[in-house]
Amino acid sequence: MDFVAELRDMSKKHDYIVCFDSDGCVFDTMELKHKECFCPAFIKHMGMQAVSKYAREVWDFVNLYSKTRGCNRFMGVQYAFAMLQTRPAFRDRGVTLPDCRAFEDWLACETKLGNPALAAHIEASGETSLKRFLDWSSEVNQRVEEMVHGVAPFPGVREILAQADGKADMMVVSQTPLEALAREWKEHEMDGYVQMIAGQEHGTKTEHIRFATEGKGYAKQCILMVGDAPGDLAAAQANQALFYPIVPGQEEQSWADFVQEGLGRFFDGSFAGEYQASLLHAFDKSLPEKPSWPDA
Ligand SMILES: [Mg+2]
Repeated sequence: MDFVAELRDMSKKHDYIVCFDSDGCVFDTMELKHKECFCPAFIKHMGMQAVSKYAREVWDFVNLYSKTRGCNRFMGVQYAFAMLQTRPAFRDRGVTLPDCRAFEDWLACETKLGNPALAAHIEASGETSLKRFLDWSSEVNQRVEEMVHGVAPFPGVREILAQADGKADMMVVSQTPLEALAREWKEHEMDGYVQMIAGQEHGTKTEHIRFATEGKGYAKQCILMVGDAPGDLAAAQANQALFYPIVPGQEEQSWADFVQEGLGRFFDGSFAGEYQASLLHAFDKSLPEKPSWPDA
């Protein structure tokens, strides 16, 4: 399937478009997915058994509690490896990282960082060192499928979807695999509100917004990204779009404020400027850049 063509073919039905990140923004699934699915599989497939405590601290910091929260899973591995190497326990216990050369080359040249692209690259290049990363990612998907059920959207999500319905085009902009996104949006009967679900197979979030809006006549102040991570903000800014943050740890309040004030401001043109700046200020304070563990 040509994922980019799919985004470009999305038809413009309204003057406004709202793009929603899914994990940690619409659904409170970040802790569940990372702690029960991603991290155990990371320790297993990357040979981190001897430093499991530190590997877990690093994994959670990178993917949940810092400015890289919500990054693509393969980028998360790269960031976690870099941070793990700085920890004395990792060095003292003689643990070594897997061979990452081919993996880093792949990260540097591919934007559709998902299993299909990785599998195709392994097939084409014969790089056996990449197999470990695909096996890890496949196990994560399997764990998510088994584990993640019955996690309702945050209160306020349905009100926003209903209020925007008929006024704005809506889409999901995520770095989660498509099959999980489709399952989770359908489970809660919200898939009917969105025209398009874009996942990691479609490329980066910046690309999702760009390909879905470019050349279609949306004014910049009529494009809104809703997300819980700095990467979501970066995707909005790269497209000169507006950004509504769902602040980690204050998700319920963020959605309540969005229902009360944010969405109305988006439609009446008073979102940009002071209101946007105050939202970004609160968001920036919510996640640290550097860890605070004793050996940092
Ligand atoms: Mg998120």
